Amino acid sequence: MPGPCKWHDGLERLFLDAVEGLSVQLGTNVTVRMTDAAGYYTLARSPLGPEACKRVSVALEERHCWNRLLDIDCFSADGRAITRQSLGVPERRCLVCDNPHAACIQAKRHPIEQVTHAAIRLIEAYGRVAEKKHIKYLSIENIRGMD
Ligand SMILES: [Zn+2]
Repeated sequence: MPGPCKWHDGLERLFLDAVEGLSVQLGTNVTVRMTDAAGYYTLARSPLGPEACKRVSVALEERHCWNRLLDIDCFSADGRAITRQSLGVPERRCLVCDNPHAACIQAKRHPIEQVTHAAIRLIEAYGRVAEKKHIKYLSIENIRGMD
């Protein structure tokens, strides 16, 4: 979550759902999930190689607009960070303007309030979709369909 405030309604749900999705895709079974002043984070070990982990992680970060709030770092067993650049995949995009994230940060292109607002819009968009999925799952049509 960008900005000084790392908490917002719906962010925990998005985080927990993303961790679950990542765990399935990476085959992780050792997970530490914590919160601190930087917000929610988790540590996981995967049987996949570090480059494969990074490719899966990038795919997850790019899959839905709200997943752009995720920042998944992948390291080799000797601590080497696997970067998007090293895999030849596009850089992370800015939450506000879709330009490369790092360029906007370096140029201080957007006030932090604008970046935080963009993040909150994504959290709320996820919340609406997650709510619909839940309602659909519990709907009478689906219960009848289980007969
Ligand atoms: Zn930007």
